[in-house]
Amino acid sequence: MSEPTPGNSHGDDLDVSIVLPVYNEKDHLVDEVARIRDCMAASPYSYEIIVVDDGSSDGSGDQLREMEGIRLLQFRKNRGSGSARRSGTQAARGRIVVWTDADMTYPNDEIPRLVKELEGYDQVVGARTSEEGTAKFLRVPAKWLIRKLAEYLAQTRIPDLNSGFRAFRREVAAQFLHLLPEGFSCVTTITMSFLANGYSVKYVPIDYRKRAGLSKFHWWQDTKRYLTQVVRLILSYNPLRVFAPVGAALLLLGLGKLVYDWVDKDFRLASNTLLILFAALQVLVVGLLADLIVRLSKPTVLVDPATR
Ligand code: UDP
Ligand code: MG
Repeated sequence: MSEPTPGNSHGDDLDVSIVLPVYNEKDHLVDEVARIRDCMAASPYSYEIIVVDDGSSDGSGDQLREMEGIRLLQFRKNRGSGSARRSGTQAARGRIVVWTDADMTYPNDEIPRLVKELEGYDQVVGARTSEEGTAKFLRVPAKWLIRKLAEYLAQTRIPDLNSGFRAFRREVAAQFLHLLPEGFSCVTTITMSFLANGYSVKYVPIDYRKRAGLSKFHWWQDTKRYLTQVVRLILSYNPLRVFAPVGAALLLLGLGKLVYDWVDKDFRLASNTLLILFAALQVLVVGLLADLIVRLSKPTVLVDPATR
């Protein structure tokens, strides 16, 4: 990493670290960094801008090497925005970390407002009011379903699960960085990690503009990732909330069938009755095991949640 020429930082008591993952964004990179720098310089916060070049091949890397006033991390090859965000966050020194995109979609000139909104909370997320992304037809329903699932698991309303525009307390996030996946779903994971461990997440509405340059979203790769994410969400956050109702439904069905066999068939147990009962047992046992693993893998001592 090239050593810092951070904005107006004061070493250890730095307020904000802005982490910007970049993969082939050469046409608007300079503008994006400039608008972040301008708004931060005009704000009361001390800050640093950490740009993570995720193996760009379009010359973004060269542009970044010449840029002043940023801390630059460069990956040799493309590793995914999740890896980039994680590495950037690990390198961060600010009390608060801000995540955003380098594609002109998020209102990056409002970062100081976002940081201000964080007061008294552990994380604040800029919730988009409209979906302007590419491949809308696939993305919208997939995202909606996952969001509903996440809301069900976390038992709270989540207006925007995938927003890439957020600010959070660094010491809280540090406990979960190792859980972040390499790709897009890392923004979801950080929300869920906070919620699952009793930290507060607040949502503020933001405008979201059309992307400059090409989205790195790939419909098939990312649909696969979305599906994996569903499975992971369930397994890692509150497995019993899914396994228990499914198991209970199967159990009821099996018991009902058992009674029917008993009454109607003179207790000649049908093989499908057994099958249903065994399925119920398996679902319940797997759910209990998953629940146990989730409990065991929680960090033992947690950083205190923010207070008002
Ligand atoms: N990005 C990255 N590595 C990748 C893909 C994307 O660092 O492999 C960056 C990208 O330059 C952008 C951010 O991560 O700043 C989010 O990517 P993108 O905007 O393509 O995703 P979307 O917002 O469409 O979900
Ligand atoms: Mg984007």
